[in-house]
Amino acid sequence: MVESPPDHPLIACHDCDLVYQETALPPGGEARCTRCGALLYRDTPACVQHSLAYCSAALLVFLLVNTFPILELETQGIHRNATLFGTALTLYQENMAPVAALVALTTLLAPALELSILCYLLLLLNLKRRPPGFAELMRLLQLVRPWGMVEVFLIGVLVSLVKLAHMAHVLPGLGLWSFGALILLMAASAGAFEPHEIWRQYEQCPNR
Ligand SMILES: [Zn+2]
Repeated sequence: MVESPPDHPLIACHDCDLVYQETALPPGGEARCTRCGALLYRDTPACVQHSLAYCSAALLVFLLVNTFPILELETQGIHRNATLFGTALTLYQENMAPVAALVALTTLLAPALELSILCYLLLLLNLKRRPPGFAELMRLLQLVRPWGMVEVFLIGVLVSLVKLAHMAHVLPGLGLWSFGALILLMAASAGAFEPHEIWRQYEQCPNR
């Protein structure tokens, strides 16, 4: 077993498993694997604050997505609204339970869980406190992330919007615009999230 001094912990390349000793980076610098070129870690001391700002904004926008209609439809004098939850419910009532479950999982449950976990972890780290269940929640985050598919759903909604426009008067609702903002904010949050730095800050927090 290889031992390393506590101020120079070991880090393995995610892509090729080559082991390195961590060294301090210049501001904004990044360390790359000399064998395969993969990114090992970056110097991003403000990543908790940046990621928290994006994910708390995303959580607020997510509430808007679920409050306001995505589409408003008017045909033969009948006016109908379609919210995200209403879409999943209608699919269920139309005997398409597996599709309804998939829509609910990928557009409601997974993003809600991802944003809640992120906000909880980052908020406590920002307050210099160790979040209870940190390791388990970081692993859960890795499991949940691939199931969030809000952008796939948005493309589906846009295609439906174009097709329905021939049959009825269709208006994009506030929920749809919020959906666009949610995708941008979630991408920004994921881009600012640097697991290596998050773990480092967690280990530096006082143990209480
Ligand atoms: Zn490598």
